[in-house]
Amino acid sequence: MRLPKLYLRKLWRAAMEFEMLKENDKVVVGLSGGKDSLFLLYALRVMQNNSPFSFELAAATIDLGYGQIREDYLRNYCKKLSVPFYLERTNIAEVVKERSPNNPCSSCAFYRKGALIRILKREEANVLAFAHHQDDALETFLLSLFYSGQLKTFMPTTYLDKSAIRVIRPLVYFTEAEVKGGLTYAEAEPVKNPCPYSGKTQREQVKNLLKDLVKDNPNVYTHLLSAMREGKKVELWPKQKNKLEMHQFYLKYLGNIDSNDI
Ligand code: SF4
Repeated sequence: MRLPKLYLRKLWRAAMEFEMLKENDKVVVGLSGGKDSLFLLYALRVMQNNSPFSFELAAATIDLGYGQIREDYLRNYCKKLSVPFYLERTNIAEVVKERSPNNPCSSCAFYRKGALIRILKREEANVLAFAHHQDDALETFLLSLFYSGQLKTFMPTTYLDKSAIRVIRPLVYFTEAEVKGGLTYAEAEPVKNPCPYSGKTQREQVKNLLKDLVKDNPNVYTHLLSAMREGKKVELWPKQKNKLEMHQFYLKYLGNIDSNDI
């Protein structure tokens, strides 16, 4: 069981910088069966072997109800790594189709996270590990900007107050290409996502847009990564004034004229 030094450096850098792992943690990886989560499980297993402190590791798969999830393969892969495997069957696909047919992914992610938290509570685990990597963070940054007008992305580590669970994303320093490369070490074969929306999402559009932009300017990724960090220079328009503030503004600068006339 091994990983190149560069990979280990990235994993431990994220773990230390964002305070992801602590002694006696019980970590559960959200294992969809895609390349990212399979690699994350393997990477955390390697970290567990090399860690100066001990922590437990397990994997949990949520059957969303979209179709065949290759349970046997996932179960055997976990067995090969000597990691406990939990599975929960749900009807999330049905709920998403009924309630959010136009925006399935955010509802799906919300319900899936809820199902994972139920597993963590049942198993008395305190850390939920997601396999989001650097490219995911950039795509989320642009998706938020394009579709909700907000400058934000997911955090490497977050704390769920209600359940006292820490959510960590140990692959934040990995590009998608590096994760793909990591599968060779993990000797894992990604399971096809049976979801009908897979590959047809807004995220896919943003991913393709980024790929096109990078063809002309390879620095696009670096600039976006830099913009995503706190402490960078931000020059944005001032906050929009409300009606009362605008009225006061008119009185101050234009005298006693009716602002409705402007
Ligand atoms: S692509 Fe399908 S499985 Fe993935 S988040 Fe969207 S709805 Fe859920």
